[in-house]
Amino acid sequence: MVRKIKNNVIFAGAGPGAPDLITLRCLKAIQHADLIVYAGSLVNPEILKHAKSSCKIVDSATISLLEIVKLMKDAFFQGKKVLRLHTGDPAIYGAIAEQMTELDKLKIPYEVIPGVSSVFASAAALKTELTAPGVSQTVILTRQSGRTPVPHGQEIANLAKHGATMAIFLSSGDVKSLTGELIRGGYSPETPASVVYRASWKEEKITRGTLADIDDKLEASGFIGRQAMIIVGDVLDRKKGGKSLLYDAGFTHGYRKAAEERIGESENRRIGDFKGKIAVYAITAEGLSTAQKLLSCMKHGLLFAPERFKNSSVKNSGTEFFKEGEFDEALRRTWSKFDGHIFLMATGIVVRKISKLVGSKTTDPAVVVCDQRGNYAISLLSGHIGGANRLAKFAAEVLGGQAVVTTATDVQNLMAFDEMASIEGWKVANPEMIKVLNSMLLEGKKIGLLIPKDIFKKYYSSKKNLSHISKATGLKTSRFHGAVVLNMNIKSTSMPVLKLSS
Ligand code: SAH
Repeated sequence: MVRKIKNNVIFAGAGPGAPDLITLRCLKAIQHADLIVYAGSLVNPEILKHAKSSCKIVDSATISLLEIVKLMKDAFFQGKKVLRLHTGDPAIYGAIAEQMTELDKLKIPYEVIPGVSSVFASAAALKTELTAPGVSQTVILTRQSGRTPVPHGQEIANLAKHGATMAIFLSSGDVKSLTGELIRGGYSPETPASVVYRASWKEEKITRGTLADIDDKLEASGFIGRQAMIIVGDVLDRKKGGKSLLYDAGFTHGYRKAAEERIGESENRRIGDFKGKIAVYAITAEGLSTAQKLLSCMKHGLLFAPERFKNSSVKNSGTEFFKEGEFDEALRRTWSKFDGHIFLMATGIVVRKISKLVGSKTTDPAVVVCDQRGNYAISLLSGHIGGANRLAKFAAEVLGGQAVVTTATDVQNLMAFDEMASIEGWKVANPEMIKVLNSMLLEGKKIGLLIPKDIFKKYYSSKKNLSHISKATGLKTSRFHGAVVLNMNIKSTSMPVLKLSS
């Protein structure tokens, strides 16, 4: 379909640089334009060759916004076709909004033609998928604050908390401070980081490294300039990408460490959304092979199996064998040493075996039961604080089965307060109030939350009956039926309060 060019001012994305990376629509606009104002250093002059010989071409780098607008206005009212060419896609750091505002004032109509942004040209140069399953499903396009400050809350360190892929524009001036901020925000120094200088241009140059060494590598290569895109994230490491959960940051393949060493490990790594060490128990051959699948996706997991399997295909280095008839004994030893237990056997066996060990909601480990084939993963005990619901979901995802979660809040798709506390690594100071506040949550009662605003937003921003409050004085009984507070020793008020501590 051939579009007729209307008499609008056109803002068009001229792509990342390569002259054949412009859209056909942009090409047509160039061919018909009487005036082209283009962003000098970033738009490849090659593409301007398509313009008519009579077309007036102006480099916007040399003039101010008002001068640009005046040029466009005069040409427009003389009936000329005006084209404003921006690098990449005009919607990203194109400063088109301010130009449009001026055109609105003058009642001059305009339209926008999208373009290939340099972020995608850079991803193409790196041959990377920015949204690899199980690694990152989010891309943050951002910049470091410079002459243009970034709004509060959008600082690099804050955005880094998500662990998502980040594409950082306009920030190659001080890569050292940038990587420092990223690490401070939560990325490990080993996180892959790549810089693409002039993606898609003849001069394109790629520097690959990690947050720890990219700055030195750039210095050594000498390829750093304003036209550089910085991409950060585990997606850059293909080994970690493309295979669903199995390669998540907290997972490694296979066993590498001796069993005892693993039990002793204190590091609290993420297993999916579950934090901690996991014991897996299997008592049948099929259960054992299912267990191995689970363990191949965990860093801190240990398999427990009866001695008769010692000479089977089980990888002995990661397995502890117990004598026939000593399962109870083994479980007594492991119960409180592990944060989570996954049993690949009948639920009845597990209920009987753990019944003597179960203590309290705040201290019991997570217990998940799977059938030996891994068709179902049942969250049996400590769904929220212990994290069994998350562990069940993890097991189901790895085994291709179905997680069975029966907690009311999960059924209603609500984030229970004790679950939120557990995910954030907070403790519940008065566990007897968990039930009270979660019931209020289920019933849609009004609750005030005195917790950090970003955390409130993360879990509850869409819930109309929940309000974020920033000071204890905001906790008025007239406004709320209950409250959830973090690190605050609120004297007993007439309303129920769930107290959390970080
Ligand atoms: N609208 C443009 C971005 C303009 S801001 C787009 O969509 O791509 C200018 C910044 O974009 C530069 O500082 C640099 O970070 C990035 N950039 C533009 N062209 C680039 C290219 N060819 N290679 C790498 N980065 C580029």
